[in-house]
Amino acid sequence: MKDILLKINSLKKYYPVKRGFLYRIAGWIKAVDGVSLDIEKGKTLGLVGESGCGKTTLSRSILRLLEPDSGKIFFKGKDITRIPPRQMRRLRQDMQIVFQDPYSSLDPRFTVGRIVEEGLRIFNVLNKKEISEKIKELLEIVRLPRDAINRYPHEFSGGQRQRIGIARAISLDPSFLVLDEPVSSLDVSVQAQIINLLYELQERLSLSYLFITHDLNMVRCVSDDIAVMYLGRIVEKAQNIELFSSPKHPYTQALLEAMPVSDPGKKRKRPLLKGEVTMAINLPSGCRFRNRCPHAMDICSQQEPSLKEISPGHTLACHLL
Ligand code: SF4
Repeated sequence: MKDILLKINSLKKYYPVKRGFLYRIAGWIKAVDGVSLDIEKGKTLGLVGESGCGKTTLSRSILRLLEPDSGKIFFKGKDITRIPPRQMRRLRQDMQIVFQDPYSSLDPRFTVGRIVEEGLRIFNVLNKKEISEKIKELLEIVRLPRDAINRYPHEFSGGQRQRIGIARAISLDPSFLVLDEPVSSLDVSVQAQIINLLYELQERLSLSYLFITHDLNMVRCVSDDIAVMYLGRIVEKAQNIELFSSPKHPYTQALLEAMPVSDPGKKRKRPLLKGEVTMAINLPSGCRFRNRCPHAMDICSQQEPSLKEISPGHTLACHLL
């Protein structure tokens, strides 16, 4: 039986769009529109989709950095959707985030030691001597030199800064990390080092990850399960191997087809995805992918497909199957 750490049911987060002299609500951006997902203990769920599909809003809503409008979030079996801020603050020790940009996510006024110890000081979990020991241990774990403790973020490279961000995120011994495009702003040569570090930490600290990315090669490397998101909804979810060997949703198929290949002369099996992502404020009726889908049928404009299990562990939202 699966050991589920985090479960979300029908989560929604809409943003009002206001216009005119009276600033009236003219519409809604459905950034997250009824998303349901599970993340198993010690596993990585890769969340992939184009920019603007709602990945970041979803992750912030899970951590309650944004308040979801409706739906449920269960963490370690407990419903945390509406727990009061004080309880949520305590729970944040167990749910941390590594941000995409290692340049802007670290306060340049503070030393590395001060940045990494921030959570420990806020939550008052250790005394001064223990904090100092813990920081040394954390810097060693993420492979930063000991003297980094008294240096400032600008003295480090992008990869080293991301190591500082990771040290900060694991300082409170969390069990769940949101990794929001953690390597996309780094050189390719450094990306592998950070990914290896994340693997190592997952093993060592039994961490579960929600790995957000728009890079399919990356998601293939790091994930146990993969969820594909399009305009606020999950359109397909499956185990890593299953998704790459047998993608069923036309959007997933198009994303895989667009992946860079080592042989430029190789013929593509399917046409590349055409058109831009539809504006989230102006969703078409029925399936929100239908304007770009090469298989769109009449029913696709009338009825929004719901996410259904098509084989064990493989779910799909499409009228084709
Ligand atoms: Fe294409 Fe219809 Fe499936 Fe949407 S439901 S992906 S339009 S076939």
